[in-house]
Amino acid sequence: MVIMMKAMEIYEGKAKKMIPLDERKFIMEFKDDATAFNGEKKAQFKGKGWLNAQISAKMFKILEGNGIKTHFIGVAGDNRLIVERLSMYPLEVVVRNIVAGSLKKRLPLPEGTELQEPIVELYYKDDAMGDPMINHHHAKALGIGEDELREMESIALRVNEILKEYFRERGVLLVDFKLEFGRNERGEIILADEISPDTCRFWDAKTKRSFDKDVFRFEKGDLISAYRELYRRLS
Ligand code: 5GP
Repeated sequence: MVIMMKAMEIYEGKAKKMIPLDERKFIMEFKDDATAFNGEKKAQFKGKGWLNAQISAKMFKILEGNGIKTHFIGVAGDNRLIVERLSMYPLEVVVRNIVAGSLKKRLPLPEGTELQEPIVELYYKDDAMGDPMINHHHAKALGIGEDELREMESIALRVNEILKEYFRERGVLLVDFKLEFGRNERGEIILADEISPDTCRFWDAKTKRSFDKDVFRFEKGDLISAYRELYRRLS
């Protein structure tokens, strides 16, 4: 099961807009809107779209440089990227290095516990269902093959190794993150969507201060200063 996007339709999500550029490309526009808890909490932060676009572009460039195939083609202005058009898997692939967020509901480990090995989780991407966690058997019922799942998980773990090290050198812990994948016309599995403080947890290695959307979710201070600080560490 993959989601085919209709030829020239604009897709508007909670934090991004996908604007068709031509048959093969989209403009991915990052909005200043922030939502949490499946859309229950909403706000706008001037400059968030710009920061997420720039941070995502940087992440995709680093990953491409390390041999990961991504949908990123280029930057098209302040809060816009040009990306390859893909058929999307309706999945969220989450990788975790440190206990935080929803993992606390599943394992009897306190927040901040370092996991001996990264944990990979799959979720079915559906707002109305609240993105339920699924396993390989559920995914197969949706028509997603074992080989495809293994490839997505293996790419996700490689992304984790590359980004964990990149952030470690900058005094930032990569706690966990969510990836989405699609398939191109050649049938290749390609890393898609965004990689930003909206979709990852980043903690300062010393103070454990959050530089991510938890600042908004749990009112831990000023979101833009946190995202800016993460961006500064990348520069
Ligand atoms: P958790 O399951 O702990 O809520 O999320 C794990 C990680 O995946 C966090 O970094 C979180 O930001 C990201 N994540 C999981 N689901 C979603 C989602 O639906 N939207 C976004 N933006 N991030 C998500």
